[in-house]
Amino acid sequence: MADNLLPLANHKRIDMNAILGTPRSLATGPGRFWRAYIAPQLAAFGGSAQPAIDSVRPDEQFAPSASARQFPSLFALRGVGKTYDGGVRALRDIDLDIREGEIFGIIGRSGAGKSTLLRTLNQLERPSEGSIHFEGRDLLSLDAAELRTVRRRIGMIFQHFNLLSSRTVAGNIALPLELAGTPKVQIETRVAKLLELVGLVEQRDRYPAQISGGQKQRVGIARALATEPRVLLSDEATSALDPETTQSILALLADINRRLGLTIVLITHQMQVIKAVAHRVAVLDDGRLAEQGEVADIFTRPTQEITRTLLREVIGNEMPPGVRERAARLLDGSGRLWRLAFRGQSVDRPVLAEAAERFTLKINLLHGYIDEIQGLPFGSLVVAASGAASALDAAAAFIAAQEISVEELAP
Ligand code: ADP
Repeated sequence: MADNLLPLANHKRIDMNAILGTPRSLATGPGRFWRAYIAPQLAAFGGSAQPAIDSVRPDEQFAPSASARQFPSLFALRGVGKTYDGGVRALRDIDLDIREGEIFGIIGRSGAGKSTLLRTLNQLERPSEGSIHFEGRDLLSLDAAELRTVRRRIGMIFQHFNLLSSRTVAGNIALPLELAGTPKVQIETRVAKLLELVGLVEQRDRYPAQISGGQKQRVGIARALATEPRVLLSDEATSALDPETTQSILALLADINRRLGLTIVLITHQMQVIKAVAHRVAVLDDGRLAEQGEVADIFTRPTQEITRTLLREVIGNEMPPGVRERAARLLDGSGRLWRLAFRGQSVDRPVLAEAAERFTLKINLLHGYIDEIQGLPFGSLVVAASGAASALDAAAAFIAAQEISVEELAP
């Protein structure tokens, strides 16, 4: 237990694994699992600042499908550009690979080109330049009949659901099958299965006006899956929903991805959505691909300012001004203010505790967050460290050697 403890002022000790460790690893070892709302206690530890700390429990239902990363690309876009009549360049030189079995998120501010990009994938929008391959076929070379066949393999769901108000829940789900000329008995069996999949068995005979927004989106999802597509495109599918319903729809999408191995491409302006379900993400900015990669990488090591801006909404990386003022008071001209960014394995060791002990430092926790993406913990802490200058240098090097990035902030 002693190794997990960080000595702070007044001989008070706090288990840093509760702050700088994974809840799961802690739960299996000795010791306590604390949710630390630290404000009053921190004063007792010698600090006067109020940290904003919360630890979000890993949510099993959003774990990625096991083999999502091993599949080859389902969509391959090369040099895709789109200029609308009137001269708006909505997309410029987009290179993207979307792999089979993954949930691929596309994020950007309003007007960034997300919707245009998504619509090029099923050819609702034809690019002005470049090529798009789907299942190895060049989408731009297909004739109208071939395109209709391909589109059955590409389902789509929408922000405003696009349901027919004159049809029941079951009738809406059956529609694509009727259009495809599927025999009636097959339609009935398939609709019954889809109703079960999306949890709407009891609502089957209601009309859209008689169900909630979340239920409408479930109908949209079932309808999109009716023709057994290989990929589902989601156009801001949760933007019109309240946070709780959003979570339940995202959980459903993650579940469908996992159970059916269905590839999902979703566009959103909310990083929360990306964080909850996507395996990989592309960031669009003014029609250009600013960066793309694994969600955990983009969250922990964003390279573009636009990404950092979008991330602020979820991780609240900015120190509140009050915290900064208190930090300045606490350090009183000496000591250092560090922002420590960590991820994955680096959170398994009580690094701060070790640094404080080894270099005889006083370390006060000021601000931070810890979260999880795809089962990997990540986060950032701002701490005030005081001690001898040489010890502070050595401690910063020691912490950085544990794969925790150390950024010195101006107090
Ligand atoms: P987002 O989905 O990220 O909000 P869009 O793809 O809808 O972005 O739009 C990208 C840019 O293209 C915007 O400047 C938008 O005004 C413009 N745009 C979108 N659709 C059309 C259209 N049909 N005709 C002309 N300009 C369009």
